[in-house]
Amino acid sequence: MIEILNPAELTRAKAAGALVADILQSLKSRSLVGTNLLEIDQWARAMILEAGAQSCYVDYEPSFGRGPFGHYICTGVNDAVLHGLPHDYALADGDLLTLDLAVSQDGVAADSAVSFIVGASKPPESVAMISATQRALSAGIAAAGPGARIGDISHAIGSVLSAAGYPINTQFGGHGIGSTMHQDPHVPNTGRPGRGYQLRPGLLLALEPWVMADTATLVTDADGWTLRSATGCRTAHSEHTIAITDDGAEILTLPTPSRA
Ligand code: MG
Repeated sequence: MIEILNPAELTRAKAAGALVADILQSLKSRSLVGTNLLEIDQWARAMILEAGAQSCYVDYEPSFGRGPFGHYICTGVNDAVLHGLPHDYALADGDLLTLDLAVSQDGVAADSAVSFIVGASKPPESVAMISATQRALSAGIAAAGPGARIGDISHAIGSVLSAAGYPINTQFGGHGIGSTMHQDPHVPNTGRPGRGYQLRPGLLLALEPWVMADTATLVTDADGWTLRSATGCRTAHSEHTIAITDDGAEILTLPTPSRA
């Protein structure tokens, strides 16, 4: 099902998006050398509950995971790129951490992910990989607007990732979002322009380019959730929720100005 939000729902979506962005920004600033992934999860829980919002993850039980997720945020370190299950691990200098957060507030969900490097070490290949996903996300957003098609977004994202030299996995990509976190249409991270569903104002999409340095193959961790690169290489992920507007697209998951 593809949902088109009305103006009142869009107002609530903007609030949900700002909440997700503010929580992610706070968690990023608190993710230091020595921080445990389980602490990050508890901080996320506290901020979600304080805002009166609901986690989209705790009871989530999709076909690709083992049982209810049971945590409030996805934490992926280095080779872990998607659906990272928080576990007892203290971050080390130079770790590449991905935080992915989806929250529902007043009946509307928003979803965003950010990758960054913990501590003072900045491995150049990791910096480049994060940058590529950010640029691909910007290109995807720039390609979105009324009358454009899903394939236009996919092509824009895939072109940046390919030009940067990264293989592209097509099992997991972006998605529609609205009253629930994962909806149609699927937004692959590569595709042909001019193909697929035609975008309309009021449609919300979560765009999420992600890459693994030297492979397109994922393996599932023994925890039943965390997806890692098959080669053990590092990975990166950037995601925003956007709304299709009358003349383009608006990013909903930007931090509120007072905290930016
Ligand atoms: Mg998502």
